[in-house]
Amino acid sequence: MSGPPSKGSDRAGTLKLLPELRRPLVLAVRNNFGGLERITGLDRRILHLLKTFQPDSFPKPIRERFAKLAELMNDYPAATVDEKRKRLLSALALLDALEAKLAPKAESESVSSTEGLREVAYPDRRPLYMSVQFVKGVGPRVAAELAARDIVTVEDLLYFLPRRFEDRRRVGRIADLQVGVVGQARGVIAAMSSGPRFGRRPFEVVVQDDSGVVTLSWFHYGAQAVSARYKVGDPVRFSGKVSHFRNRLQIVHPDLSPDNGDEADEPDRSIRPLYPDIKGVTTRRLAAIVLAAVDAYLPLVRDPMPEAILRGAGLPDLVTALEALHRPAESAEVDHLNEGRSAAHQRLAFDEFFFVQTALAQRREGTVRQAGFAHERKTDLATRFYKRFPHTLTDAQRRVLKEIVADLMDSKPMNRLLQGDVGSGKTIVAVLSALMVVENGRQAALMAPTEILAEQHFRTISALCDFGGVTVELLTADLGRADKRAVYERIESGEIDLVIGTHALIQKGVRFKNLGYVIVDEQHRFGVRQRVMLAGKGPASDCLVMTATPIPRSLAMTVYGDLDVSILDELPQGRRPIVTQVHWINEWPQVKTVVQTEIRAGRQVYVITPLIRESEKLDVSGAEEEVERLRVELPDTPIGLLHGRMPRDEKERVMRAFLEGVYDVLVATSVVEVGIDVPNATVMVVQHAERFGLSQLHQLRGRVGRGEHSSYCFLMCEKVGEEARERLSVMEETTDGFRIAERDLEIRGPGDILGTRQTGSPIFQHANLVRDQSLLVLARKLAFDLVARDPDLGLAEHADLRRELEGRWRERLKLIGIG
Ligand code: ADP
Ligand code: MG
Repeated sequence: MSGPPSKGSDRAGTLKLLPELRRPLVLAVRNNFGGLERITGLDRRILHLLKTFQPDSFPKPIRERFAKLAELMNDYPAATVDEKRKRLLSALALLDALEAKLAPKAESESVSSTEGLREVAYPDRRPLYMSVQFVKGVGPRVAAELAARDIVTVEDLLYFLPRRFEDRRRVGRIADLQVGVVGQARGVIAAMSSGPRFGRRPFEVVVQDDSGVVTLSWFHYGAQAVSARYKVGDPVRFSGKVSHFRNRLQIVHPDLSPDNGDEADEPDRSIRPLYPDIKGVTTRRLAAIVLAAVDAYLPLVRDPMPEAILRGAGLPDLVTALEALHRPAESAEVDHLNEGRSAAHQRLAFDEFFFVQTALAQRREGTVRQAGFAHERKTDLATRFYKRFPHTLTDAQRRVLKEIVADLMDSKPMNRLLQGDVGSGKTIVAVLSALMVVENGRQAALMAPTEILAEQHFRTISALCDFGGVTVELLTADLGRADKRAVYERIESGEIDLVIGTHALIQKGVRFKNLGYVIVDEQHRFGVRQRVMLAGKGPASDCLVMTATPIPRSLAMTVYGDLDVSILDELPQGRRPIVTQVHWINEWPQVKTVVQTEIRAGRQVYVITPLIRESEKLDVSGAEEEVERLRVELPDTPIGLLHGRMPRDEKERVMRAFLEGVYDVLVATSVVEVGIDVPNATVMVVQHAERFGLSQLHQLRGRVGRGEHSSYCFLMCEKVGEEARERLSVMEETTDGFRIAERDLEIRGPGDILGTRQTGSPIFQHANLVRDQSLLVLARKLAFDLVARDPDLGLAEHADLRRELEGRWRERLKLIGIG
């Protein structure tokens, strides 16, 4: 008999039911209700659980609350998102009330007394998973504001960390403020903007003491609150990063508070944590709430990290670390705290790395243990290929090919990342390895991120493989229905040996007879899920992932941490270096001279206009305007236009025309970023280069310098500020894609490089892939060692670790495609 696990016919049984009910609700509220639309069946799950509850033995108030809960789930799927949010929060509040009522002892005591609750359902840490409303000072209104920031449970509040620390031990004079560092001082408001101004000009408050003057500025939110709360003559204290603007000291978006001189109320001799703003909660109240949570609940936190690991890493335990951040020691180094270099921060950063690495190590164990196909070394097709190939392989190509062939011959499935700068010749390596797979009687698939790129691969590869014995075919989304069906059939019958395509390859209808090898080009444009989906179309396929976006080591270890890595670190002979220059827009005449000279010498020119994220239409008009401008600037020069919204045939026609030299200039939106190969093009002009990421510019630059001529890359930059030009100057200094990527990572964070911005969630909250690289290396080593000893984390001493991975960490790992 397998009825519901716990018939709620008594208190203890019902108490056990409550966490079950809570879990789906908390999941739905998490992430600021992110993914609410994707969550289905929540109401059914709750209603199903409620059925296991037998109300008769309970007093009316409890029965009513359960009934109310059921009511909230009534017609839930039809509710608007806003309504859903409200209902979920109400449901959570109801559960809290029920828990308080049902728990023995707790009934009569204040909610912060948790002993009684603790013993009943989750013997150990249950209170940590309760609603923040159990924390002193948190009512329904504050709870709702906290929930909007992902803080739902008591535990979430403990992990809600200060964004900055204010050193109250040295509140100084204005004259002592130092440019470039965080400082704090007190003074009197001498002047302020009249009413908040939105738009370009900041809202300003000028503060003065007997030593000097500083301007506090707000560019957006916050201005209104400040103007409402303060007036000229008020004594204030403030802190923030000091900068210089027009010969004056300035702090942008400072922390400002009234200086009431009440030292007892605001003890001066301490380091004060400042938390991220929560709407409608004053900073002081927020700090008090967090401290109440720390006092009542922090001792319940159990450190999941095995002691041996902590010792190996030389890091403090979790409770100590959290305490040190919420209540910094009198002697703490404020700079370390503010820069995330304190031992406490490092501990939290380590956890983030460690959990990701553990998940990667486990995944790797999983694939390594799978049985795959051991290919035989066969070189017939390759030999025929070489006869067609006009060059010899570079040493790097030879080395990498050897690595891949060794993997293919092994019975373990290959999972390899091939990194190589633009033009390093990855395609050839991919094709040669695919030929060996085909010769072993299996099929191969190459997936590219755009149609243009897939088509280009198809053209070059089918030309190179035109020696008989290999059938190559193209599959993209906009193939006509009948054509598509025909290709599907030929894939399924095994007639096609190597299929090249876009996302169209992972569609349901595509079935292989014997898929053995999956190659993903420009992997950073795909999610891991797509790679796995394609590979899943064959039994234990070997998998090669290629990327021309050099990924900094730290990032590669995180995102591709379960892959082996091959690197093509050599460009084929005869490539000329590319002269790169950053120019202000008004320096165009200089650039134009080079453009004209090159065109006269028979070369061709790309002009790239930026992607305007909000609107593809604007991109198009930007590109069209550029064409008009160039028609005037360069009369009698044939100019082509290529943008993402053109129909495929049209794109194809323009590209082919450019390749054949019909156009001297090709104006394009960043659709040409990946892949196009026109050896005769020698000039790359990027308009509004300041809007591009460095790695993206590096890709664009890779479109020239592909032939035997010297090439140029001009990065045209609008005069928005010196930083933009400084950032772009990296492009002048180096052509090393790895260095450029490191800089990109420092400046723009990992989301931009990985194209994961749309998830809106940073991979790491505490860890920094640039600052904490050595910590990452250590975490990786410790995690991989641990998984080697205990692959399933089945040992008793790893039980907490496993629970953490399956609980708090699961959603985040999913976000970056692991787990
Ligand atoms: P990637 O995909 O790494 O950017 P490709 O594979 O597209 O580079 O190769 C870039 C260009 O270099 C192509 O025109 C290709 O034919 C050429 N190429 C590849 N390998 C060699 C080689 N060993 N010698 C000379 N040219 C090569
Ligand atoms: Mg390529």
